[in-house]
Order: sequence, then structure tokens, then C-alpha cells
Amino acid sequence: MATFTPDSSLVTSTSLSPNRTVTNGRYARVVVLHTMETDEHSTVAEAIGGGWFMNPTAMASAHYNVDNDSIVQGVPEKDMAWTAPGTNEDGIQIEQAGRAGQTADQWADPYSSAMLDNTARLVADICHRNGIPPVKLTDEQLAAGHMGIIDHGQASRVYRLSDHWDVGPGFPWVGFMAKVRHYYDGGNPAAAPTVSSTSSNDWFDMATKADLENAVFNTPRSEWGGRTLTEMLQDNNRDTYSTLRMVRHLFNLFRIGIPGVLTDGALGWKLRSIFGYDESKMGKARKDEFENDKRNQFRW
Ligand SMILES: [Zn+2]
Repeated sequence: MATFTPDSSLVTSTSLSPNRTVTNGRYARVVVLHTMETDEHSTVAEAIGGGWFMNPTAMASAHYNVDNDSIVQGVPEKDMAWTAPGTNEDGIQIEQAGRAGQTADQWADPYSSAMLDNTARLVADICHRNGIPPVKLTDEQLAAGHMGIIDHGQASRVYRLSDHWDVGPGFPWVGFMAKVRHYYDGGNPAAAPTVSSTSSNDWFDMATKADLENAVFNTPRSEWGGRTLTEMLQDNNRDTYSTLRMVRHLFNLFRIGIPGVLTDGALGWKLRSIFGYDESKMGKARKDEFENDKRNQFRW
């Protein structure tokens, strides 16, 4: 069985899932929490991560599977897990033992408390390594492209590509985020951001289209393996529209260009040609999906 080096030192075992999209590196924006809809046992992470998600017919996977005493990594963070449509491209997916229907009391039982502690440590670690602020996003923030922590239910509401509602209304977000923040601060004494924000002064905070073009086409970055954004995205995905969607999403995020209308203007044209956009090669289904996304995901 294929193995790989886990991304986090918290991982207790790995089970490399075939249900993933391999990339050479990608931009992780959100950490997405799920429930596995299982009973509470100490072998749930191993059973799901090493069982169902190893089955090609499942067509599903997660980066991490967590129970009360273990964290099983099934997909390397650089690859896309097939978990929550709308966030598969730029999300790191965590499946937790338990059910979306759990009440607050059930989330507070000893088993869930131990598991949530495991998850909180893992989320803090993921946030550190990926530059994701340890904050819970609102639906509005998710839709606006902020970085942070969400659940599957939010991805369903915002992107409307799934009807899953995990982790459910009983999930103890306040206490959980306090734990995440605790571990995040413990790993790094420097002040962490207290709100999700694109206002931190990173490279995306640019005033002009020329700046953005320079960043997109000409600026190699270490987190993309010394490649430019364009090169990284080209390597990621040459065959589907997901790359274009990702790029357009970035443009939406930073409000430069014309949101949802990359076809307009020289920048959009150049991106489309660079990414091999070719109407004649695309099946009708892909076109429909693309048009649907344009209508549904990128309204503003
Ligand atoms: Zn889910």
C-alpha cells in the first residue's frame, strides 16, 4: 500500500486514499470540519480512513480522520480531497467521529471532548503551517473569500453544490475555537490575528491591475514551489475548469478586474489562453458546470 509522509506531527497513521486530485501544490484557504456519521469508538478514524475512503467506488475522502485517540491522514494537504464541493479546491478537510445530529450535551461527553481536543490541536497546526488565521468564518466571509475555519454545512449554503449540513447546530463552536486559539497561541507566542481579514498587509493588497498582473504572471513564491501563481495553477489542472474557477475566485477576492467575467479584458483573455481554455475540447457537462458556477457561485 502506498504511504506518504504526514503533513502534521499529530498524525498517528496514514492511509493514502485513491479518491483525491493530485496537485503539485495549491493554495489552502479554509479548514473544513465534518462529521463521519458514525458511533463513538476509538477505531473510527482508522476504520473510515483505512476503509471506506480507501474504496475507489466511495468517490470520497478527507485529508484527516479524527477520533478520540487518533488522527489518520488520508490525503496529503497539497492534494484535493473529495469531501465538500465548493471547497475541495482550496480546503483542508477534517472528518470527525460522531454525528451532525448530536446535541450540545452529546458533544460535551468524554468521547467527543477528547476528539474535539484532537481536532483543535490539528486545526491549530494546519493554520500555522498554511498561514490560515485561526478564526471561524461567517457565511458572508466565506462567500467573500476570507481565510479561516468553516464546516460542511456552510460550504453547502454558500456554494450550493451539496446538501450536507455537518457538523450540525449542536457543535460547540465557541468552546472549540477557544481551544484552537489556545493551541495556536501555544505553538506561536506571537500575536495571532483575532479576526478573519484580508486587511493584513499581504501580497494581495495591491492597488492596481498592473501590480496584480505582475504577481500573477511574474512573481515566484516559495509556498508554490518557487513557481508563479500561473505556473502553479497550470501544473495543478490542465483538463478542467477548476483552475479557471480558482483564478476567477482570486480575482473576486481581491476585487480587481471584473468579478465573474474573466472573459472581459486583456487580463482575462491572457489567463484563459494560458490555462488552455478551449471551448471545442470541453464536454457539454463541463461547460454547463462552468456556467452554473458563474451564475451561482460568483454573484455579488
Ligand atoms: Zn461533510
